[in-house]
Amino acid sequence: MPNAHTMPALFLGHGNPMLAIEPNHFADSWRQLGQQLPRPRAILMISAHWYARGTGVTAMAQPRTIHDFCGFPQALFEVQYPARGDPQLAKQIQQSLAPLPVALDQAWGLDHGCWAVLKHMYPAADIPVLQLSIDAGQPPAFHYLLGKQLAALRQQNVLLIGSGNVVHNLGMVEFGNDVPALPWAIEYELWVKLQIQQGNHAPLIDYLNSHLAAHLASPSPDHYLPLLYVLGAQLPGDVVSFPTEGIDLAAISMLSLLLTPQGQ
Ligand code: ZN
Repeated sequence: MPNAHTMPALFLGHGNPMLAIEPNHFADSWRQLGQQLPRPRAILMISAHWYARGTGVTAMAQPRTIHDFCGFPQALFEVQYPARGDPQLAKQIQQSLAPLPVALDQAWGLDHGCWAVLKHMYPAADIPVLQLSIDAGQPPAFHYLLGKQLAALRQQNVLLIGSGNVVHNLGMVEFGNDVPALPWAIEYELWVKLQIQQGNHAPLIDYLNSHLAAHLASPSPDHYLPLLYVLGAQLPGDVVSFPTEGIDLAAISMLSLLLTPQGQ
């Protein structure tokens, strides 16, 4: 049951990496969230960009900042997010997910799905950050159930954040100001939002068979699956809100989801 110390859980649409360094209203919302949410003792980030073989958790004391993109300005490659890790918490997460094998990872770090949003939420980088990899070999229900297991961390003052995009079709992205959103992208984002509002998780887990635009919205599952972790971590009584929404660059949904324990 939720208690006074239960942390919220959050899914963030991270979008274009340039949002990390250019002024924009999504980043303004991320900054507000950082100021308004109770301060966690650590953050567990499930980023679309650590889509890997098996489940692993970063276990180093000082994770490096990973610049996992190309063709962007030098300023983006110069961003550093020097948050500490928490090897002890990594070990605890590993044990809590047993018998699922969880690797204590020493090689990854913080990828841009993680730091592009945290740089705005917690600019001082003074909260330890761990990342959990998304096992590319597992079906959507696996990720939802793993989120359910991770919900216990919310009662241990750990903030769970999924970072991806509900609609993420890079082949249909158009750069420029005021690019009109593709109609199917608007419709799909609205559908996802409605299912979340109604607590209707089953069609969101079976998304590829539940909506005609799902294959367009998620040509690959990596940016969608972080949402399932957060939905899995929903606790009874959580109040649902959407800090950001809308389609950016024609085919990227910036929908975010905040689950706030009742009475907070
Ligand atoms: Zn991304």
